Amino acid sequence: MSRTPRIVVLAGGVGGSRFALGVRGALHARGIDNTAESLTVVVNTGDDLWLSGVRLQPDIDSIVYALAGVNDTARGWGREGDSERVNAELQAWGTGWPWFTLGDLDLGTHLARTDWLREGLTPTDVLERMQRRWPLGARLLPMTDAEVDTIVTVRAEDGALTRRMHFQEWWTRHRATLEPVRFDNPGIEVATPAPGVIAAIEDADAVLIAPSNPVVSIGPILAVPGIRDALRQTAAPVVGVSPIIGGRVVRGMADVCLAAIGVETSAAAVAEHYGARAAGGVLDTWLVGEEDAAVAPDVEGLGIRSVVTPLWMTDAETSASLAERALSTAGV
Ligand code: GDP
Ligand code: CA
Repeated sequence: MSRTPRIVVLAGGVGGSRFALGVRGALHARGIDNTAESLTVVVNTGDDLWLSGVRLQPDIDSIVYALAGVNDTARGWGREGDSERVNAELQAWGTGWPWFTLGDLDLGTHLARTDWLREGLTPTDVLERMQRRWPLGARLLPMTDAEVDTIVTVRAEDGALTRRMHFQEWWTRHRATLEPVRFDNPGIEVATPAPGVIAAIEDADAVLIAPSNPVVSIGPILAVPGIRDALRQTAAPVVGVSPIIGGRVVRGMADVCLAAIGVETSAAAVAEHYGARAAGGVLDTWLVGEEDAAVAPDVEGLGIRSVVTPLWMTDAETSASLAERALSTAGV
């Protein structure tokens, strides 16, 4: 391909940021310097919430911090070298959530974002402004500018009653131990994709679905009206990367989410959940781990091409080689 390839990645936080770093690295390795013109990352905003008067966008911040190189790689979230003085003060005042830590540097981001939102900027504008401070080597777009926070309905202790809570409360406070009955993004049915999202998918040479949580990261992106149709109609191949390795989730609790929607924790079952593009789904190709080579024929049986390759993103190199495999599989 002579001109710069146009790549779109759909992503959540942890798996999404590692994979986005990998794609940027793979493009660099091909000698493409202007990766920001080549790579568009459409990010889940279902995890977003208002807390202590500020707007948090956890998946966006995970990707921004990782691409800017200011993330805490040991802890896996937030800013490197952060402190929690403000958080301690907020707790002393009894505001916020006692189980949800906000770092001081992280709060700086949230305050800036909230300030801009109050000025009337959209989340897309805010993200564009953040990228002026930190050139990320990618164009980041929220999936939508609408507030469509993920709400979890859990079974109450007596088994009969149900109650609803914000996804972050369920995930962070309860560590996903309360049995989820369903996940909703109220208002998403009337939300529109953020400006640029549909055009990026339509004009792409390849669309890559990051190994992110299929239910609460990729699920909300696909639920924004218009995005699923754009994936089905684009001329670009759609290549997904399994977040399940060896029949297990890595770094997270996605298995609990999958169980709630009746999907088994296996690379083949997630592929079936996304579905073959030829059969009304969104996938042409599915990358499965070497540990899951045995399920590759099941994936092929769904009408989805299956490629067996190492899926562990342990560092920049392994992430870039996984991304390179996804790109070459897409014919880019
Ligand atoms: P979150 O928004 O922070 O929950 O992160 P994502 O939704 O982007 O990603 C979570 C998913 O990433 C988990 O379900 C993991 O299975 C997957 N994941 C994490 N690390 C890796 C990895 O190294 N390789 C692969 N293939 N998947 C991973
Ligand atoms: Ca997330």
